[in-house]
Amino acid sequence: MESLFINTLMAIVSTAILVLVFWRIGLLLPKPEGKTENLRNFHCAHPPALFNKEFKCEAFYLLINIFISQSVAILLIFALMKFGADGLPYQVFDKQVGSLPFVLQVLLGLLVIDISVWIRHGFVHKFLWSFHAVHHSAKELTWLTTRRLHPVDQIVMSLIDFVILYVLGFSAEGMAGALAVKYLNNLFVHSNIVLDYPKPWKYIFVSPNMHRWHHATEKEAHDKNFCVVFAFIDYFMGTYYVPDNALPKAYGSDIAELDDIEHKSIWKELWQPFKATRGTTVAHETVKPGRSELG
Ligand SMILES: [Zn+2]
Ligand SMILES: [Zn+2]
Repeated sequence: MESLFINTLMAIVSTAILVLVFWRIGLLLPKPEGKTENLRNFHCAHPPALFNKEFKCEAFYLLINIFISQSVAILLIFALMKFGADGLPYQVFDKQVGSLPFVLQVLLGLLVIDISVWIRHGFVHKFLWSFHAVHHSAKELTWLTTRRLHPVDQIVMSLIDFVILYVLGFSAEGMAGALAVKYLNNLFVHSNIVLDYPKPWKYIFVSPNMHRWHHATEKEAHDKNFCVVFAFIDYFMGTYYVPDNALPKAYGSDIAELDDIEHKSIWKELWQPFKATRGTTVAHETVKPGRSELG
């Protein structure tokens, strides 16, 4: 319970700091006007808005995920570790992986997490779209969009990230390092920054533009760019889509009730996926017919 309290407190403090840092960076960046001719330019995609409806919606999800989803995930992890200590195979390669230098563990951990992100993210697009569509309902990307997640989506993500690293035998420091770098890059690629990396880097690391295409409403971009750190995983798996010098025309989930920020009810949005999936598995294409042709 003590570590749960510390974790929640840390999440609130770090979030407050990040609000200020990212808001400040947004103010410093060149504004979008007249900057569309070179989309590699490091510039602001849209003016940083504080306290509009999108911001309030994303702040709501952030708080729900800090106070509820994260706590549930931690309690489940505690339960799992207690269960594991009673004889389940756990920390399988701890002698080999856990003894690696910190930097190597972080790099290896990032690779492992991002491969699992590719699998999990593809799975939720295909089979749990009604939950994951909450994340895609953002009409503009901001660093807060990172945490605009249905609690079920957030809990599944936290559990898988932790369990995979733990079972493989990473040390506590290695796990913390890899998860922190993944989280920071995830915040960066969701922020209101337009930035593509020059070749070959754009095929190696996920840029803000690469993740912008993940949120695009254009058909060619649907179910692409699942990773959050290493672009080469998407490239090798055939899900890489980052056109040069181009940006998506619009972002959204294509589900009218979720995308309509003016009229939607967040409480209804939280409850809706359970009704949609009751007794059956709702595939991505069931909810969003426009995406059915894509793999
Ligand atoms: Zn997605
Ligand atoms: Zn995203």
